[in-house]
Amino acid sequence: MTLTDFHTHTRFSDGADTAEAMVRQALEKGLRKIGISDHCYTFFDESYCIPKDTVDSYKKEIAALKEKYRGKIDVLCGIEQDMFSGADTAGFDYVLGSAHYLQCGETYLPVDESPAIFESIATEHFGGDYLALTEAYYQTVAQVVARTDCNIIAHFDLVTRFNAGERYFSERAPRYVAAYRQALHVLLDCNKPFEINTKLLARGLKEEPYPRYDICDYIAANGGSFILGSDAHNASEIAFGFEALKSIAEKRGWKIHDEFMD
Ligand SMILES: [Zn+2]
Ligand SMILES: [Zn+2]
Repeated sequence: MTLTDFHTHTRFSDGADTAEAMVRQALEKGLRKIGISDHCYTFFDESYCIPKDTVDSYKKEIAALKEKYRGKIDVLCGIEQDMFSGADTAGFDYVLGSAHYLQCGETYLPVDESPAIFESIATEHFGGDYLALTEAYYQTVAQVVARTDCNIIAHFDLVTRFNAGERYFSERAPRYVAAYRQALHVLLDCNKPFEINTKLLARGLKEEPYPRYDICDYIAANGGSFILGSDAHNASEIAFGFEALKSIAEKRGWKIHDEFMD
């Protein structure tokens, strides 16, 4: 039985539902604990995050829900902290550390926004070499704990967002494998759980979660552990696929926590 989900979004950032709708759905699904983790204020891209002047009301609303549902379900006020945002993480119950962007000169370009943007990053900044793009991405991801002091490392291989069917690059190419392993070793030393993120499974866009199974195997073989996160952007996605993943994890020997550690 899966009891917790720490990666969810509401209308405070780019989710479709209210925080209370998310809490009620979590309760209905039998979760013991639900973490709301909207996108932190990101100065260079205000399109998807909590507006700067709304951070306080976000904290207040989650605190009110925490009280209202006390005894039924634990409600936590988290934040999904993009590593380039520089926003303050004080006052949140926990932090999800994420790398959504590549820093290219003075600009920050999202790797998960659209295939067109992904292609333009490759063409304009990496001479069309997608593996070079992934190398830069993993050099970025390697810093995610240092930059965010997160409790959980979110969607480690987000750079594969549009790579279904290996459309842009081979995820078995030696350069790709070397790049992610180098990042993993930096992060494994930080002793934080890696999220297994089911967002694209819920939407039928991928067969495997972030990170892909063989990356999870590598993390597990090197002493790393996991936490499940749905990255739900609407109530129906909460805890999506968790039961199936727990049995996969058991078979493959991945250690999944129901709680994050401080
Ligand atoms: Zn994210
Ligand atoms: Zn998210």
